[in-house]
Amino acid sequence: MAGTALRGRLTWQQATVTGLVAETSNTRSIVFDLPDWPGHRAGQHVDVRLTAEDGYQAERSYSIASAPEDPHVVLTVERLDDGEVSPYLVDELRIGDEVELRGPVGGHFVWESTCDSPVLLVAGGSGVVPFRSMLRHHAAAGSTVPMRLLYSARSRETLIYADEFTRLGGRGGIDIRVTLTRENPGTWPGERGRIDRDFLTRTGLPPAEEPLVYVCGPTAFVETVANTLVDLGHGPGRIRTERFGGTGTP
Ligand SMILES: Cc1cc2nc3c(=O)[nH]c(=O)nc-3n(C[C@H](O)[C@H](O)[C@H](O)COP(=O)(O)OP(=O)(O)OC[C@H]3O[C@@H](n4cnc5c(N)ncnc54)[C@H](O)[C@@H]3O)c2cc1C
Repeated sequence: MAGTALRGRLTWQQATVTGLVAETSNTRSIVFDLPDWPGHRAGQHVDVRLTAEDGYQAERSYSIASAPEDPHVVLTVERLDDGEVSPYLVDELRIGDEVELRGPVGGHFVWESTCDSPVLLVAGGSGVVPFRSMLRHHAAAGSTVPMRLLYSARSRETLIYADEFTRLGGRGGIDIRVTLTRENPGTWPGERGRIDRDFLTRTGLPPAEEPLVYVCGPTAFVETVANTLVDLGHGPGRIRTERFGGTGTP
């Protein structure tokens, strides 16, 4: 059984698109059907490989947005206008199309509902994708462990999963705090500004509670947040990071 699961992870599989959901004007979720999917843990990612007619191939990693309980694999991709792969996935892919997919990948950036530590999730932009899997897993498993998400996006229009997070927030220990970095004053009643030292001190879980901390987003965002958390007294061994690449901050 272990051998079969390992082979499944390392082998490219044909994945068929069975659903498309526009999350924002430049982000969409893609639902895939994979006949031989070995299952995944919340927080893992997959590799996607596209092959052009002339044989040219491009490969990128995408976090899994669906919960382990979900039979489908869902990815949520943000279009980078000058990007090679993401514009195709966001704008061109149609229901019934096939792409090659390999996974699940990653064993460190995962959360299991059997873990009884409080959890702090810190997301910048599309870095929120693996956290949807963790939040859905938390809800599906009926966990009551405190799970707090701090989520930074540019504006209200760029918020991913806004409706779902409104529904999930406040249920069974889930607490979601959103901050917008470029929203005009007066149009957003919630938090504004970056996830910096002050924001983490006010809204994060205290180090004394020894939360497990997950940080995900653009590389510069992840490094700044992780360093600040260590400065605030969180044990480096309790902080897990996933870097999406790029240098910008959401
Ligand atoms: C483990 C992992 C999980 C990921 N999960 C997701 C996910 O769930 N959703 C998602 O949308 N992306 C995710 N990414 C990022 C994804 O792999 C691609 O890097 C992204 O889609 C850009 O690919 P591209 O071919 O369109 O751009 P490229 O052609 O590779 O790059 C175009 C330009 O954008 C810059 N750039 C590359 N990546 C980023 C980035 N992430 N942010 C800002 N600028 C960037 C490049 O430096 C370059 O200047 C993940 C990355 C990793 C490593």
